[in-house]
Amino acid sequence: MFCRGLLALTFVLSLTVGTAPPLAGGAASAAPAKPSYLVLIVMDGFRPDYLSLAPLHHLRALMSQGTYYDTAWVGDLESTTPASHATIGTGVYPRKHNVIGFGWRDPATGRFTYAPTNTNQIHAGYLEKTMTADGVPTLSDEVHLHNPLDRVVSISGEKYYAAATIGAGADYQLYGWLVNGKFRPQVIGPDTPPARTHFQTVTSSNSYFDLQDGFAANLAVRMVDTIRPRALLLNLPATDEAGHYYGTHDAADMRRIVKGDDDAIRKVMNEYKRLGIFSKTLFVVTADHGMVENSHIVPIHSMYTAFRKVAGTAQLDQEYRESMGAVWLPDPSQAETVATSMAQQHFPGVEGAFYKVQTGNAFEFKAVPSTAASLSKPLLRAYLDLANTEAGPAGADVLLPYREDTLGFSTKNRKHWGKHGGFSWFSQHVPLLLEGPGVRHGVSHFPAELVDIAPTIEHLMGWQVPTGVDGVVLGDAELSPSAADVSAQQAVKTRRLQDLRAIQAHSQAQTHPTQ
Ligand SMILES: [Zn+2]
Repeated sequence: MFCRGLLALTFVLSLTVGTAPPLAGGAASAAPAKPSYLVLIVMDGFRPDYLSLAPLHHLRALMSQGTYYDTAWVGDLESTTPASHATIGTGVYPRKHNVIGFGWRDPATGRFTYAPTNTNQIHAGYLEKTMTADGVPTLSDEVHLHNPLDRVVSISGEKYYAAATIGAGADYQLYGWLVNGKFRPQVIGPDTPPARTHFQTVTSSNSYFDLQDGFAANLAVRMVDTIRPRALLLNLPATDEAGHYYGTHDAADMRRIVKGDDDAIRKVMNEYKRLGIFSKTLFVVTADHGMVENSHIVPIHSMYTAFRKVAGTAQLDQEYRESMGAVWLPDPSQAETVATSMAQQHFPGVEGAFYKVQTGNAFEFKAVPSTAASLSKPLLRAYLDLANTEAGPAGADVLLPYREDTLGFSTKNRKHWGKHGGFSWFSQHVPLLLEGPGVRHGVSHFPAELVDIAPTIEHLMGWQVPTGVDGVVLGDAELSPSAADVSAQQAVKTRRLQDLRAIQAHSQAQTHPTQ
């Protein structure tokens, strides 16, 4: 029975990913070598449809040799840079790592914190402490557990909150900042790279966003050349910053930005080739979230007013400007009252309201009855599954889903702009590719999520996969997946696909309605 089950699952995988290559020898020699090095690149805010804007030869080369997930999505509600980088760096949802967007209720103090933009707190290690407070291990922790002498470097352009979260537990966390007219490397910690790296000499003439990917790649190349880290964790910020600035309406604006991404990847790939370790390196390239256009704007001033009118409700914080609304209350037991009141207003672009309920130590989101009645059953379940990824003490108490391409932020100076962070498909859909020893060639339609990245890397690299991760090992990317990995992946597939398809179809209906 065991063998038949295994064969059946292997068959399913080869249908999904393409024909498995013939085994080179006997069973003993079939096991592929483990990679020696890891390069994990996050192209910030890179929508999968950007892949068609320009040739992107180097990204395409990695895609053509590895496994590309064309149905990957963030899979947790926040879909913002700090939250997603914390998810990628741990393999757990925000409800466990407690990094909720750009602000949240600090579970230790009960007060609201804006930690991701507070450089003093970041330099003091607050983000790392927050993420690991409940014993959540990071990718970097697993590197050091495997070999304490191995080094991990995380690097960004100006996104220190990306370097600090994806690099929680890393030896060197670096980013760039404009100092005396030049964009220069800054050290978050915990250690300063040794003098022989001369890392401070990597600079850029200014901080304009289309120079930042080149800066981050040059800094990465310098660190790889001098330190040879076991793991390089690299955030390329330009696609996100350009997407916010230009929106995604006009492809021409984004074309040179995505070419810059590809050029940054070229620099890193060439360094590993120059050192003769390219074929020993696992490359993982993804995005932390997508980008939503400003086709519709919710009436945030009316929403703030309505919130203030809910009797007896004080404000801890509220956020309506992204691609969803979120409210934190000093007294979370008022969540149902506030959600019901906000849903009754039927604000244009707002699809309903959810509220968080605590039972003992467990948290769960529920829909107010009018919201449950107005959304289709599959969409309601998908929204609740996403909401529950931040159902913890730090997460919001009330959530307001917005329709597709709907934001709460407007600007007088530009016709088009972008935002992200929420339930919608364009916030959620991301590219994901893996390439390197042990990885097969092909395209997978499996609904991979950001939580899968850490356990998959840990498994492929031969590090320990911590117990308690929310993600699964993406066995269908492997040349020889274990039966346990295959069945674990299959076990989550149906629910994830139902949720993903419900959100994708909802987006399609709103952006391309049938006549
Ligand atoms: Zn952004």
